[in-house]
Amino acid sequence: MKLSRILLPATAAAALALACVAPAFAKSAKPGARTFPRAYFDTTCSPCRDFDQFANGGWQRTAVIPAANPNWGAFAELAENNQVAILGILEGAAKDKSAKSGSPARMVGDYFASCMDSAAAEAAGLKPVQPLLGAIDGMKSMADLPAQVAWLHAHGVRGVMFSFGSGQDIKNSDRMIAQVGQGGLSLPDRDYYLKPDSASRALVAAYVDHVARTFVLAGADPAAAKTDAGRVLAIETALAKGCLTNVQRRDPKLQYHFLPFDSLRGMAPSFDWSAYLKGRGRASLDSLNIGHPGFLRTLEPLVAATPLADWQAYLRWKVLDDASPTLADAYVKENFAFASRMSGVKAMQPRWKRCQRAVDGDLGDQLGQLYVQKYFTPEARRRALTLVENLEAALADRLVTLEWMSEATKKAARVKLDAFAERIGYPDKWRSYDGVTVTRESWYANRLSANRAETARNFAKIGQPVDRGEWRMTPPTVNAFYSPTFNSINFPAGILQPPFYSPDWDDAVNYGAIGAVIGHEMTHGFDDSGRQFDAAGNLRDWWTPEDAAAYTARANQVEAQFAAYTVLDTMHVNGKLTLGENIADLGGVALAYAAFQKAIAGKPQPKIDGFTPEQRFFLGYAGVWRRINRPEALRTQVLTDPHSPSHWRVNGPLSNLDEFAKAFGCKEGDEMVRRQELRARIW
Ligand SMILES: [Zn+2]
Repeated sequence: MKLSRILLPATAAAALALACVAPAFAKSAKPGARTFPRAYFDTTCSPCRDFDQFANGGWQRTAVIPAANPNWGAFAELAENNQVAILGILEGAAKDKSAKSGSPARMVGDYFASCMDSAAAEAAGLKPVQPLLGAIDGMKSMADLPAQVAWLHAHGVRGVMFSFGSGQDIKNSDRMIAQVGQGGLSLPDRDYYLKPDSASRALVAAYVDHVARTFVLAGADPAAAKTDAGRVLAIETALAKGCLTNVQRRDPKLQYHFLPFDSLRGMAPSFDWSAYLKGRGRASLDSLNIGHPGFLRTLEPLVAATPLADWQAYLRWKVLDDASPTLADAYVKENFAFASRMSGVKAMQPRWKRCQRAVDGDLGDQLGQLYVQKYFTPEARRRALTLVENLEAALADRLVTLEWMSEATKKAARVKLDAFAERIGYPDKWRSYDGVTVTRESWYANRLSANRAETARNFAKIGQPVDRGEWRMTPPTVNAFYSPTFNSINFPAGILQPPFYSPDWDDAVNYGAIGAVIGHEMTHGFDDSGRQFDAAGNLRDWWTPEDAAAYTARANQVEAQFAAYTVLDTMHVNGKLTLGENIADLGGVALAYAAFQKAIAGKPQPKIDGFTPEQRFFLGYAGVWRRINRPEALRTQVLTDPHSPSHWRVNGPLSNLDEFAKAFGCKEGDEMVRRQELRARIW
């Protein structure tokens, strides 16, 4: 079960233009302070009416989304710059054939060179995946299914039937246990298979065509390909019916059932679980967490009644779908054509960007070492840690003054806060890539080797103590996360740069941008899901019933606020799906503001660029969420992503804050000032 709470995955909303009053701009910024280009503002709109429009509307009016991107804005610009920086590392490593075997430079360089070799991929055709397809073709009877699924899992083929690996025991967070979970789908969410609306049905029809076309590319005749695509859809739809919804998956309690291994036999007796385990190279297992028993029960009739030929079609598809991005051009294009339906992008990312993502995915700590050597100094790490500590102090202060919480719960919350593990930039210990073979011959072969080694590494952790030094994001990543089971807040080096942070900027902007990100991740420790975990990362209720009820009442306000927002035509933000992220945004900006006030207390507070420090704080915040989206990407985000679209990430939290209203002189009745009785404020 993956429980990490991240800052963002996908896309966000273009704002609505609304008229209003122009702000007064003064002379240019002092040297070093961040400049907000005038053209970014929509000076016809009052900040009190629509702050995203005021701060970002000018930019939104003229910005163009690059053909290969689902959205464009501050995050994407940083990611783009970061990619160019990383390209320099990769090209340098690929040129240097003298680097020591097994060294980061050698592995990363060889991997990148193999990936960039499109001629080799073209010449190889389907050859790299032939061993996997051959094994599936060689299945003799349904008795072979468990071992075959185990073999594909061991090869790291994604999304086959169910997930099975190690994970932290959420009720005993010091140990790693075996976990089996729902899975086996190819579309991004179960709802795509099950919703009756015309958009969902059209997408499923396009998906079946895509599966059939891929089978034809791999040599099937069109009629057989069509039949097989129907078989794939039937199996995936049956699996989808057994899956928890994305809202249900936010509840950790629904996904914890620590049971004897034999329980699997009771739930899905037609699948030979011992044969599966043997296929993973393990003779026995006493117990495991069965994430969602309902899913296992769904497997039973499916395995019992579905013929072998259908399963073979399904497994062939999973191998081809997984491998397509690394194969010859025809596969890459077919894969892209379908993916672009959901993102709306008009062109494929250039090969070097796809290869960079692949290196980061398969050799992230190797690349990370080279990245931080070049781009992240110990000084930057130290400064970021100071900021984090200041945010933690703000939450500690807030716990003292919080009016709705009892002393007992406050005390427990403080214990949890004091136990936060702060992780900045990169892990203290780099992970090993022993067992990974990288050559310049074949991208797919390199990826398979990395996947096999990673799967084996993951599986070997079952029954072992937890390694709390491990990261779940690579150092160059432009993102951040909170882990409830580690009780850690993590800020990779990739996010500790403009527009989030610069050591040269004024405090106001740094606190509004990276400060709010830090506060966001800290608040995840106390969001509706994170609050169910204690200081040691165990799922344990440390709240008095009264405080839990008071919390829920406040969380309900947040849910209602965001559920009322209309994103596209009749599509609203899903208030339940985005609740944790919205609580984190709201808490994050409030805590960052408090820390900022503390940081500037007693210092002179000149206006810069015509804005007070308080105003610059909120401009720094809104600047991070400057973004425009393709409508397809926005639709996919609303359906699948626990983060609200960026427009509401600006206006939603800020309209709850007196501090914001005061900074811009907003009055009761203004759009950016929510009525007091509707206000949601938890932290
Ligand atoms: Zn988050």
